[in-house]
Amino acid sequence: MIADLARCVAEAYEVALPHRGKGKVADYIPALATVDPNRFGFALALPDGTVHTAGDVDIPFSIQSVSKVFTLALALRRLGSSLWTSVGREPSGSAFNSIVQLESENGIPRNPLINAGAIATTDRLIDGRGDEATVAEILDFLRARAGDDSIAIDAEVAASESETGARNRSLGYFMKGFGNLHHPVEEALGVYFRQCAIAMSCRQLARAGLFLAMEGRDPITGEQLIKPHRARRINAIMMLCGHYDNSGEFAFRVGLPGKSGVGGGILCIAPGQGSIAVWSPGLTEAGTSLVGAVALEHFAYAAGWSVFD
Ligand code: GLU
Repeated sequence: MIADLARCVAEAYEVALPHRGKGKVADYIPALATVDPNRFGFALALPDGTVHTAGDVDIPFSIQSVSKVFTLALALRRLGSSLWTSVGREPSGSAFNSIVQLESENGIPRNPLINAGAIATTDRLIDGRGDEATVAEILDFLRARAGDDSIAIDAEVAASESETGARNRSLGYFMKGFGNLHHPVEEALGVYFRQCAIAMSCRQLARAGLFLAMEGRDPITGEQLIKPHRARRINAIMMLCGHYDNSGEFAFRVGLPGKSGVGGGILCIAPGQGSIAVWSPGLTEAGTSLVGAVALEHFAYAAGWSVFD
C-alpha cells in the first residue's frame, strides 16, 4: 500500500505537538537561547518537487550541526577518499564536543559529525584556497540546493559561537598539536562557526537534502553533485553518528539516517524516497530536538519508511 504522505506529515505534526515545552533550548551559545521554544515545523521534500508541510516551515533557524553533512559532501567531492586520513567513520558514543578520544587516537576524530571531526573536515575543505572562498562555496551550495539566494549566515549567532567557543578551540588546538589541522586553528574555526550559523527554514533544508536521498543527484536541477556511492556512505555515517551518543536510539526509533543540530533542526534522509527537515528548539540531553524526533518517529512508522525494510 502506498501511504498518503501529506496525511502522514499532518499526523506526525499533531502527535508531536503536545511534546513542545519538554525539551531545553540550547543556551551555551547565548544567541540561540532567545529562540521561541514553541516553534515547530515539519517539511517533507519529494524528488518530483512536491513539498508537504506542517507548522513553522518558512521561518529560518540556525542549522548548526546539520551543516556538517553538507561540508562532508563538499569535502568528499573536493578531496575524495584522502579526507579519511584526517577523520574516521566510527560512532563515538560520546557527546558532540568530547575531546577524550582524540588523545588515544592521535588527534584523528572518530567521525565527521562530532565537533572535532567537523572542524577537521572543514579544515580540509579550506585546502588550496582561503577561508572566505570556503564559506562562499558552502553558502553557494546551500543556496543552489534550496533554490534561494537569500540564505545567509546569522552574524549574531556566528559572533556568539566564537565568543563562547572555548571547547571548540580546545578541540582545534588539540588536533593541531597532533598535526591534524592544515590551517591555523582560528581560520578553520572561523569557517566552522559561520557554517553552523547559517539560517535556513525547514522547507529550504528539506529541499537541500534531496540529493542525499537520490544517490547524489539533485532531482530538481538534474545535477549529479556527488558520486552515488558517496551519498550512500554519507547516509551510513548519518545513521551511525548523526546524533552523537544518541545515534543508536534515533536509529532504533526512526530507522532513517539523520543529523541533529542544537538549533533544534534535524535533517532526515529516506533513500530513494525523499528528504525531511524538522525544527523545534527544545532539545533532549543529547542535543537532539525532542519534538522533532517524536515527529520523525511517527512519520517514518506511518509512511512505512525505513532503511531496514
Ligand atoms: N555550533 C555547535 C557547536 O559547535 C554545533 C553543535 C550541534 O549543533 O550539535 O557546539
